[in-house]
Amino acid sequence: MTEKENWIELEKQYFLPTSKRLPITLVRGEGTRVWDLDGREYLDFVAGIAAVSLGHCHPEVVGAIERQSRELMHTSNYYYTIPQVKLAKLLCDSSGLDKVFFCNSGAEAVEGLLKIARKWGKEKRDGSFEIIVAEDAFHGRTLATVTAAGNEKYRAPFTPLVEGFVRVPFNDVQAIKKATTGKTAAVLLEPLQGEGGVNVPDDDYLPQVRGWCDEAGILLMLDEVQTGVGRTGKLFAHQHYRIEPDAMAVAKALGGGFPIGAFLAKDHCAVLGQGEHGTTFGGNALACEVGYTVLTYMLKHDLPSQVAKKGDYIERKLHSLADRRPMITEVRGKGLIWALELDRPVAEEIMGVCSEEGLLVNNVKPTALRFIPPLTVSEDEIDRAIEIVDRVLARFEAGGPK
Ligand SMILES: *Cc1c(COP(=O)(O)O)cnc(C)c1O
Repeated sequence: MTEKENWIELEKQYFLPTSKRLPITLVRGEGTRVWDLDGREYLDFVAGIAAVSLGHCHPEVVGAIERQSRELMHTSNYYYTIPQVKLAKLLCDSSGLDKVFFCNSGAEAVEGLLKIARKWGKEKRDGSFEIIVAEDAFHGRTLATVTAAGNEKYRAPFTPLVEGFVRVPFNDVQAIKKATTGKTAAVLLEPLQGEGGVNVPDDDYLPQVRGWCDEAGILLMLDEVQTGVGRTGKLFAHQHYRIEPDAMAVAKALGGGFPIGAFLAKDHCAVLGQGEHGTTFGGNALACEVGYTVLTYMLKHDLPSQVAKKGDYIERKLHSLADRRPMITEVRGKGLIWALELDRPVAEEIMGVCSEEGLLVNNVKPTALRFIPPLTVSEDEIDRAIEIVDRVLARFEAGGPK
């Protein structure tokens, strides 16, 4: 048995089989590239699901881990540590929100938003508790966040679910208005749906939802776990629309590959008081020093503007690819999150063939391929990735995968 087969066999033996993996064992990364056990190189347009924001093993991220892990990694929140206070100030100052809570993942961050909505509704809106969410949304895999999400498959095995979610179509403000009642506490949305297929709403959607939430006296909570921290060409995606949420969840890109999450709230709905929420690892000094380093680097180098420029570049390239390849029916995205919609459900197969050709992309739907490279990706790397996709699609159009 080769070493590669050995790791794959061991995984089968010891893991709950929840992950569908490609037969690739990655051992090293640098920038947009990763290498497997056999030394094969791949362009990584998955980037740990939009988490590896500064590219693999970015020297500043590695430096922060080295430095902080020698000083102090974890203390619990019984004490103050400097990295978490520094990151809290930077996140609030750069988002316009007032208060933060640190956790370890996106799902935990959204879970925090849900608790804010419940407590705020109880105290400030006559015991209201319902949260309006969108079809095709993704908010994580805890029991409450799968309930909030659109994907029936993620929920069905786990009933009974958490009560109080009302689902409406995405990009439809009238549906939100109709669903709002005296029981509604909040609307929870992704500014652009990532896992649901890279669904970009109309430009007036979020401003209209904001207007409605103000009129109805309910909270607008945004899940910026995938879109936040530079991905769409603004530091936070809602900034494209010149609106502010009442509360927001972030994670993925904030850690540059290291796990961290956070939820933030405006003072008027920062209702969680002493003892009402907590975490052992959340906000530990190591994760916060890394988050502080990533966010500082992004702001110092104005990465969001660079992402916007690269976004224009990849958009042009994907459109010209779509002109050449008739099986592409739609190109959609913003900044550095893009999807190609295909005329047939072969995205998974194409993902596999692309990986054999040295490109990692993923199938966000049976008919859609997603591109979420590190925010530091170069135009040359974008060209090379698109060349590979072009070649692979040409083969599919010619009648077969190989
Ligand atoms: C990835 C994601 C989550 C869940 O984050 P985890 O870190 O996997 O828990 C929640 N919301 C959105 C929009 C995401 O893309």
